[in-house]
Amino acid sequence: MTADIIDGKAFAAQVRERVGRQVAVLKAESKLTPGLAVVLVGEDPASKVYVRNKGKSTAEAGMKSEEIRLEASATQEEVLEVVTRLNEDPSIHGILVQLPLPKQVDEMAVLDAIDPAKDVDGFHVINTGRQAVGLPAMVPCTPLGCIMMLKDKLGELSGLNAVVVGRSNIVGKPMASLLLAESCTVTIAHSRTKDLPSVCRNADILVAAVGRPEMIRGDWVKPGATVIDVGINRIEKDDGKTKLVGDVCFSEAVEIAGAITPVPGGVGPMTIACLLANTVTAACRQAGIEEPN
Ligand code: NDP
Repeated sequence: MTADIIDGKAFAAQVRERVGRQVAVLKAESKLTPGLAVVLVGEDPASKVYVRNKGKSTAEAGMKSEEIRLEASATQEEVLEVVTRLNEDPSIHGILVQLPLPKQVDEMAVLDAIDPAKDVDGFHVINTGRQAVGLPAMVPCTPLGCIMMLKDKLGELSGLNAVVVGRSNIVGKPMASLLLAESCTVTIAHSRTKDLPSVCRNADILVAAVGRPEMIRGDWVKPGATVIDVGINRIEKDDGKTKLVGDVCFSEAVEIAGAITPVPGGVGPMTIACLLANTVTAACRQAGIEEPN
């Protein structure tokens, strides 16, 4: 039997629909239009596409969307000035600085300058800390999307063995922290982990966030496990064209897993949907009103 395919695209569409309804209620009942500003520094082609998609999705959900572009040569002071202006702008409830930043700009300093209440990416240390100790926080969009898909698929996660491969600040660590908050027994694996295949075989929930095409093979997957593939890797096919693949060898894992996210069409679409959801949450918290259902 092959695994159930977790349709991130369809799930993301549901989340975006809900966000659209929430925005309509906020506008009608509280005269509140959630606003998201995205800051892009430089000309990285992938970042440009992400930023354009984020702006389009924000506007489609009925929110205010602002895009600020700075030259690749922008100084740290110039980036910080933009962040300060957005922190002070009452019509902006969420600020996202597209990463990576050019090398002359200190990423941590910029993330640190964002008002934690407007930090819809959830990368500020205040939000990381608040989430870790169980206080209300802005939660990073990609891990949030993964948790939503897991809960939707499995219901209760408590007591399950979860293995997260990858320990980055933006995916692996927050993912592990969210799984712990759901009372999973969590293992974080990384490049120094010994016998990674055996570690993975213990996972009821296996999350791959490595950035290595198809590294996780089918025989690393516990039969019936739920596999969440965060990886987005562009590889060249035999015909010279390129295609996107995940960190999991899908064709092998789909034969063993109970459920699996595809690449593309799994985690990716959920990330933008969660960004919109976070912006609504941030706007409601800043306005001191309850978030509509
Ligand atoms: P990073 O490069 O920051 O982190 C990769 C992690 O994988 C590191 O912790 C590294 O370990 C670990 N790793 C690398 N090689 C191995 C190995 N051979 N065995 C075990 N662990 C290994 O990547 P990100 O977390 O930023 O992203 C991971 C993937 O997710 C990428 O493909 C990225 O494109 C994708 N992504 C997708 C998103 C989406 O919306 N779907 C959003 C963000 C990212 P160590 O720490 O020891 O070096």
